[in-house]
Amino acid sequence: MSEPTGTAPTENTPRAFGWCHWHQGHAGGVRLIEVIEQGSGAGGAQFACEPCRAVYGLIPYADR
Ligand SMILES: [Zn+2]
Repeated sequence: MSEPTGTAPTENTPRAFGWCHWHQGHAGGVRLIEVIEQGSGAGGAQFACEPCRAVYGLIPYADR
């Protein structure tokens, strides 16, 4: 119940509500940061909220 099942929030919506992988909690305005392609295990997409992007200097995947 603490983690999503892999269903990504709407990636094109700037104010999407979703899971932030950096502070390990739900937040509004998450953006897709990294896409991890793995056949098995904990692969998938990593999202970060706005404060975490500022703190860690993260660049949204779509802005690269
Ligand atoms: Zn965060």
